[in-house]
Amino acid sequence: MDRTHKVPQSLAINSDYKRSLLGGLELFEGVAAEDVQDLLQRCGRRDLAADEILLSPGEKNEFVYIVLSGSVNVHVSSPDAPVLVTMDVGACVGEMSIIGDRDPSAYVIGAEPTHLLSIHQTVLWEMINASHTFAKNLLVILSERVQNHNRAVAESFGELRKFERHARTDALTGLGNRHTMEESFLREMKRCQNDALPVSLVMIDIDNFKRFNDMFGHMAGDRALSAVAELIRTQFRPRDLIVRFGGDEFAVLLPEVAEQKALEIADRAREAVCGKTGDGSDSLIKIPIRISMGVAQAVEDSTLSNLIRAADAALYRAKNAGRDRVSS
Ligand code: GH3
Ligand code: MG
Repeated sequence: MDRTHKVPQSLAINSDYKRSLLGGLELFEGVAAEDVQDLLQRCGRRDLAADEILLSPGEKNEFVYIVLSGSVNVHVSSPDAPVLVTMDVGACVGEMSIIGDRDPSAYVIGAEPTHLLSIHQTVLWEMINASHTFAKNLLVILSERVQNHNRAVAESFGELRKFERHARTDALTGLGNRHTMEESFLREMKRCQNDALPVSLVMIDIDNFKRFNDMFGHMAGDRALSAVAELIRTQFRPRDLIVRFGGDEFAVLLPEVAEQKALEIADRAREAVCGKTGDGSDSLIKIPIRISMGVAQAVEDSTLSNLIRAADAALYRAKNAGRDRVSS
């Protein structure tokens, strides 16, 4: 890698070129040529091929580079990562690592054949001393970099939250999924147990849903599943926690509700789902759908998996007893 800062012919010889060059570069905007012209003689020129790496994390950098022609791409985690930003003519790179005296934080790679003015760090500090305008420009550039960095961090937090939300939501029904259950069910269950309040779990499974899919197709099955999820949701209180447990199975945690009351609530929900399916005028699904439910109440030292097992066993009894019913 060429890191010498030999005097480039064009800079050493032609002062008109020097003047016009300074005008177009953000770092030299408004800087009087006479303040920095001696120092400019000590700057170098760096030619970068397309895809050639100029700066990389872990490799000490001693130069600020200004793009004179062409452009460079900035990539964050690896040279193959997507381009974060492209720096065109006039932009400068490398200043953050010099001012902060750290290795570069990103990869800077030639986007095309590119010519750069290279300013060694000792020359840069002398330029800061020689020209207030230069120092101010550098401050403006650095503060823009920090702002862009903060914006990028905020955006990636936003993306992260979106991914988290997606990871916690079942795409078909919009209900929470099993991951949510681990967290939210456990929290509510513990709260009730600590306050010596009852807490019950209802497991719900659609009856003969395989047959439904076989008769009407998987797409109709998907629509029925999401309609059933919506019907179930409307039957419980906002404080009850509902998740799609998997396949055609749902789980509802009823905080502060004992088993007998949970049985009544569950049976009302079962009737409502049944009444809203079939060929009735207000039916959400024109084909009759029936559901079975199992109810269990947590005892003092129940774990969530104990409680799920107990409600599942009750659901199994409901299925065995002929389906379309609630068991405890
Ligand atoms: P049972 O009354 O014993 O519950 O009978 P079942 O046919 O419903 O049997 P089971 O609950 O074991 O099978 C669930 C079926 O639900 C299997 C699969 O065909 C269907 N299923 C599971 N997930 C989906 C889904 O996301 N979309 C659709 N369309 N069908 C699903
Ligand atoms: Mg089923």
